[in-house]
Amino acid sequence: MNIKSKKDKTDNPPSDSKSGAHSKVCVRCGTCCEKGGPGFHQEDRVLIDKGLIPSRCLFTIRKGEFAYDNVQGCLMPVDSDIIKIKGKADTWSCIFFDEPNKQCAIYDDRPLECRALKCWDTRELEKIYARRRLTRDDLISEVEGLWDLIKDHQKRCDYAKIQILIKDLAGSLKNDAWRELAEIIKYDIEIRELVVSKGGMDPEMLDFLFGRPLTKTLPNYGVKVRQDDQKITLVRG
Ligand code: SF4
Repeated sequence: MNIKSKKDKTDNPPSDSKSGAHSKVCVRCGTCCEKGGPGFHQEDRVLIDKGLIPSRCLFTIRKGEFAYDNVQGCLMPVDSDIIKIKGKADTWSCIFFDEPNKQCAIYDDRPLECRALKCWDTRELEKIYARRRLTRDDLISEVEGLWDLIKDHQKRCDYAKIQILIKDLAGSLKNDAWRELAEIIKYDIEIRELVVSKGGMDPEMLDFLFGRPLTKTLPNYGVKVRQDDQKITLVRG
C-alpha cells in the first residue's frame, strides 16, 4: 500500500487508471493492494501476536533506508522501522491479495492502513500514516539473544553509514570505502546464513528480522553487488 521501499522490484508501480479514485465508493479494483502491503501501526500488533498475520509474511524497511513516501510524494529515509506485508514474487502486490477474485484473504483482520485507505479521499490515511508505527523493537526486544543480534546488525549495517561510504567511493578515500562496504555486505550475508544454519530460523523470517538483504537494496543507491561463493564484487552503476 502507501509506502514502498525505493523501487527495487519495478520502477513502474501499477497506475491508478482502473481505480475508483474518481468515484466515491470502493469499486474493488485492487489497485491499492497491487501497490504493496500496508505499513503496521501499534493498533495492528494484536494481528501479529495472535498469529492472524504470521511474522514470516512481513518484511522490515530499516531505519535510515530510503523509501518512497506517497503522502509526501518523494523518496525519504525512514526515521524508524516500517514493518510491512510482503509482496508476491517480484511484484509489490500484497501477498494476501486474491487477484482472480479481487479480494483480501484476511479482510476481517486487515491492518489499520487498509481500513483507513479510501483512494478517493486519503485524509484519514494521512492522519495515521506516520503515527505510532510498529517496530521490531516492539515485537522482538524480549527475545533474548536474537534481539542482540538484530541490534548489532542494525549498527553494523546502518544505512546512514552506508550512504557516507557510497559518497566516499567517488573521493580520495575510495579504496577504504570499497573495502568497508564489502565487509558490511559480507556480514549482512553471513548473519542471515548463520541464524538459519545454526539457529534453525525459518529463512522466510529473515527479511522481517534483518530487513531486506543489502545485496537487493544497494542497487537503489547506485552500487551493484555480485557474489561468487565467498567473494563479493561491487560495481558502481
Ligand atoms: S492486507 Fe488485504 S486490504 Fe490490505 S493490501 Fe493486503 S490484500 Fe489489500
